[in-house]
Amino acid sequence: MKAVRVHQIGGPDVLRYEEVAMPTPGPGQALVKLEAIGLNFIDCYFRSGLYSASLPFVPGNEGAGTVAAVGPGVTAVRVGDRVSYAMVTGAYAEYAAVAADRLVPVPDSVDLRTAGAVMLQGMTAHYLATSTYPLKSGDTALVHAAAGGVGLLLIQIAKMKGAHVFGTVSTPEKAALAREVGADEVILYAEKDFEEEVLRLTGGKGVNVVYDSVAKTTFDKSLNCVGVRGVLALFGQSSGPVAAFDPARLAKKAIFLTRPGLGHYVATREELLRRAGDVFDWVQSGRLRVRVSQTLPLPDAAEAHRLLEGRKTTGKVLLIP
Ligand code: NDP
Repeated sequence: MKAVRVHQIGGPDVLRYEEVAMPTPGPGQALVKLEAIGLNFIDCYFRSGLYSASLPFVPGNEGAGTVAAVGPGVTAVRVGDRVSYAMVTGAYAEYAAVAADRLVPVPDSVDLRTAGAVMLQGMTAHYLATSTYPLKSGDTALVHAAAGGVGLLLIQIAKMKGAHVFGTVSTPEKAALAREVGADEVILYAEKDFEEEVLRLTGGKGVNVVYDSVAKTTFDKSLNCVGVRGVLALFGQSSGPVAAFDPARLAKKAIFLTRPGLGHYVATREELLRRAGDVFDWVQSGRLRVRVSQTLPLPDAAEAHRLLEGRKTTGKVLLIP
């Protein structure tokens, strides 16, 4: 079969589309014939070496497709089932062997491309808005990279919970997208000081929660946007890791700082099925709109990484094997 592999860490050019051996599903695993592969920023962290994996490896952490075979002892799925998954490495391929207990059934009314687009970022937005800081009516939230994959979904879930949502984006086009899904105020953070704007718009109080995935270029000001006893959820680092800082800074407003990761919020099968189930229910009912902005053939994975890292994407990018 064909797959994209990384033989040495580096820029997008290290993504090589090549012939590899078809995986055989081991005990507890299912072989999934992939129809759609979700592109995520975490794929860039593995490719660049920010996160480590043993070489060579097939990148990609999200996919949707049909079960083509099952290994010994698998009862959770059967051949022919439509499934999707997130946070299992090896998705940039025609087939992937995945632990069957990580597979989620895709409802009949959800097409596989949508399933492959919403699993990872949708469950991330779900845990951020319902568990890391469980938003309630009247809360205020700041979402950075508001027109991104996680951003557009997080705004919609935050609005479902009744929060007042501030978003930051780099361009007017992205601002329009964030507003379209419900953001109450959108700040062009390349042009305006978002800290000043958020403090002005909240009468100096700051917000209950900042969801910060941009990190290096936003962290300091994000901290200043959090209100008394509020939460700073630092959940990514699209602009680079945060520099060392003194935790005593949190004391000024008794701020809770957390660095959550999806893996810890879908650790059990029960939690995985519950979060994915909510996300699929919202998609089916039309409450959660999934925006796939670009769909590229799998051999163009390097181009997809260039677009994502170059801030040229909105919503979701899919790779099609
Ligand atoms: P996005 O679609 O949000 O793309 C990243 C966006 O970040 C860009 O579009 C851009 O938006 C913004 N950005 C700001 N500065 C930079 C920069 N220097 N370089 C690149 N982008 C920049 O990606 P994802 O939705 O896939 O992921 C969003 C973030 O969430 C990532 O940091 C990712 O690691 C994290 N994440 C964390 C998870 C977790 O559980 N901890 C799970 C899933 C994602 P703009 O142009 O508007 O500034």
